Amino acid sequence: MLYAQVVLPLAQPMYTFSLDEGLAVEVGDAVVVQFGSSRYYTGIVWSISSTVPDYPRIKPILRKLYSRPLVSPEARRMWEWMADYYMCTVGEVMRMALPSLAKPSASSLAELDERSIEPPMEGYVALAEELRTEEALATYVERHARRAPRRTQLMDSIAAMALECRSDDGFVPRRLVDASAEQLADLRKRELIVVERRPVVRGGGDDRFLLPELSEAQQRALQTIRAAHAEERVALLHGVTGSGKTEIYIHLIAEQLRLGGDVLMLVPEVVITSQLIERLERIFDGRTTTYHSHLTALRRGQTFLRLALSGGGELIVGVRSSLFLPLRSGAIVSVDEEHDPSYKQSDMQPRYNARDVAVMMGKIYGAHVVLGSATPALESYVNALAGKYAYVELTERWGEAVLPEVVVSDTLRAVKRGERKTHFNFDLLRLIRRSLDDAKQTILFQNRRGYAPYIQCRTCGYSPRCPHCNVTLTEHRTTRRMECHYCGYTMERPSVCPNCQTQDIKTMGFGTEKVVEEIARLFPEAHVERLDGDTSTSERAFKNIVKRFESGQTDILVGTQIITKGFDFGGVTTVGILNADNLLSTPDFRASERAFQLMMQVAGRAGRRHDRGSVVIQTSQPKHPVIQHVASGDYHAMARTELAERKAFGYPPYAHLIRLLLRHEDYEVLRYASHTLADELCRRFGARVMGPVSAAVEMLRGEHRSEIMLKIESGASMSRARQLLSQALKVVGDNPKYKGVKINVDVDAS
Ligand code: ADP
Ligand code: ZN
Repeated sequence: MLYAQVVLPLAQPMYTFSLDEGLAVEVGDAVVVQFGSSRYYTGIVWSISSTVPDYPRIKPILRKLYSRPLVSPEARRMWEWMADYYMCTVGEVMRMALPSLAKPSASSLAELDERSIEPPMEGYVALAEELRTEEALATYVERHARRAPRRTQLMDSIAAMALECRSDDGFVPRRLVDASAEQLADLRKRELIVVERRPVVRGGGDDRFLLPELSEAQQRALQTIRAAHAEERVALLHGVTGSGKTEIYIHLIAEQLRLGGDVLMLVPEVVITSQLIERLERIFDGRTTTYHSHLTALRRGQTFLRLALSGGGELIVGVRSSLFLPLRSGAIVSVDEEHDPSYKQSDMQPRYNARDVAVMMGKIYGAHVVLGSATPALESYVNALAGKYAYVELTERWGEAVLPEVVVSDTLRAVKRGERKTHFNFDLLRLIRRSLDDAKQTILFQNRRGYAPYIQCRTCGYSPRCPHCNVTLTEHRTTRRMECHYCGYTMERPSVCPNCQTQDIKTMGFGTEKVVEEIARLFPEAHVERLDGDTSTSERAFKNIVKRFESGQTDILVGTQIITKGFDFGGVTTVGILNADNLLSTPDFRASERAFQLMMQVAGRAGRRHDRGSVVIQTSQPKHPVIQHVASGDYHAMARTELAERKAFGYPPYAHLIRLLLRHEDYEVLRYASHTLADELCRRFGARVMGPVSAAVEMLRGEHRSEIMLKIESGASMSRARQLLSQALKVVGDNPKYKGVKINVDVDAS
């Protein structure tokens, strides 16, 4: 009899099941098992042995799913590494790594049908049948060349490409035709061409792509990255916004696909990256697969299964969870905007950072890793300085575009001199005026959605707060309600103060809704739109707003973080950062770094083509070092200042932070548990323990929250630290007094 250790998608250790004779199961296979009296789960076979386990009543594996293993040896090593490093079970990694339909039996026994999985398809075009002979085309071209030269040229080039590709039937891959979607649609409407989708053919000389020609600087950067990869080193591509990092990725991707290898390109958020994806799909067509949470569970399941069973030679563009898609070893993994906080999963285990896991994949998969950013995370920068990563810098924008001019506009001084209207300094209003007059566009960034972050009674000072979370409620004018931005609780806006019954309730601060209202009043002729979490609730709504801005219908776009990432709009000449103060004042050791990154990203939206852009930063602290560094665009200076502070106070990248978040409904129970845990930790870690303190959000969804931080200096053994931490957690976990206290462990918390 053989026995299999099986991982279940639970925060539990592995369990042993028996393998009936005749059931051919190998390590990495997905199998169905019964767990408890009536629950069924999909598990992954982790190991097989003939040693009889020393407990009774071993249940059998019920059946095997799919014809081949879902989890490769490399992926198993990665899951194990993650479970160890982020302090969770392999089952918790599995729960997140496999899309729900690849692990079907948790709720039902439905599974994906392998036969339903379609091979990737790509577009092909051919001239209309009657034009496929040389004479017919020549006659057509002769007749139309004068009136429609572009059209006939394009048709000529399709015919030439068919010859070049030795196409039997006149069809050529659409990706090799240098034409816009509109041009092809026009030809198709005139019935001059036919378009078809066909399965992707790999190899056989058909892996050609139309690549952008690189500038000299880009070419050098590409060489350096290749050289780093030849030495199995990670490359950090530090390129200012608009320097053409994407073009460099495109060349790397093409090389890899020609070799039949896989490419994984991680992006912070897929919807935001729709422009990038369109660009990649245009070049790589059917070899591009996107993966993110907006896809249906079926699509995600099919993608996973297709890659596990037959993948290879694909470009996957996706969010952090695409790290778990089945990749071939020797892949290329690129992490775009590697500094982005959304690479860190912080709401459930494993609380991993996708960038760090990607670097680990380099080791486990023999993958070639590129981290790219205009403002690298200090962790990555330090690794580059230390020579661990190859460092590749692009300091100039591509082509004629130059970096924008940055104006630091002192809000207090503007108020004193009467040079401010509501929330806008005259410096900014002048530039908006100029952009409007030149038929150019403006982006205004305000880091708060809603109308006002809170309202307050002028008589007694009362502000409505969320009854479940200890935070003020944000006023929303569009919905006419007060909303908690942590749990979604809403209530009507009070017109009379519930505390003192007066009617003098005032809005405090300002969010994007209010900015739109005021800008529309100041520039009544302008088309103003808002892009934030409230207006882009669906991918469609989001894309429509972006389309209208891209096509120039919208003059002024007001938005939150969403507008800072990746957009490449030609017409933007003015960018306003409306309140830099609230970026600088967050209580977080990363506040300065984040504020710098965010402001540089927003600023990077300006002047991306011919016209030089201007950026106005409104702040009451014009001398603040971060503001100064943004003004001079000097990343290295920011890094020097910030790294000196981090070193002095023992923060990352000079230490690892482990955050322990404790939660319980009963404040007293929580308090005792927190102190007991802190005591246990102090006995083991001494001065490395900070806290317990109330968490930044003290109460969330009715639970009280407290926090303990562990600072483990670089160079100390992290595995020893994890071991000691587990011991301390066990002491608290085993104490019946603290039953029900939930403790989240966040390694490399930020
Ligand atoms: P980044 O990702 O570094 O911010 P992008 O790759 O988006 O920069 O490039 C900025 C702009 O410059 C884009 O519109 C892009 O098409 C253009 N561009 C950059 N490099 C090239 C190139 N080699 N050939 C053609 N266009 C380029
Ligand atoms: Zn709430």
